[in-house]
Amino acid sequence: MPFGKSSMSETIFSKIIRHEIPADIVYEDDLVLAFKDISPQAPIHILVIPKKPIPQLAAAESEDHALMGHLLLTVKRVAEQVGLEDGYRVVINNGVDGGQTVDHLHLHILGGRHMKWPPG
Ligand code: 5GP
Repeated sequence: MPFGKSSMSETIFSKIIRHEIPADIVYEDDLVLAFKDISPQAPIHILVIPKKPIPQLAAAESEDHALMGHLLLTVKRVAEQVGLEDGYRVVINNGVDGGQTVDHLHLHILGGRHMKWPPG
């Protein structure tokens, strides 16, 4: 493994995946984890992440094809589970200009209020 590779892929979300720090987990399987955002921007704000440490959407590879689909279907499953039948927004912030602050791919599910457009 190249020098520094493991530490570069290590984020706060890695610790949540390993259950080393607490999180309010709403769904988990072998490939993905969904948990409540610590700083909610809507009445319901859940993050869906792959357990594989993909740093951002732009770093996903063709081998991640099935995982990407599973992430989206998990969004749908979790949204149903928490009762977002009137709709919700799904956001992926990618890189600096996208406003990404944690370098582990995550899909935001935002719901429980009417969303504005365009986002800031
Ligand atoms: P980003 O800005 O990278 O798209 O989103 C990162 C999200 O992770 C933010 O909404 C932030 O509130 C959330 N977050 C950061 N650290 C933690 C944490 O330790 N626990 C939880 N549950 N959420 C976190």
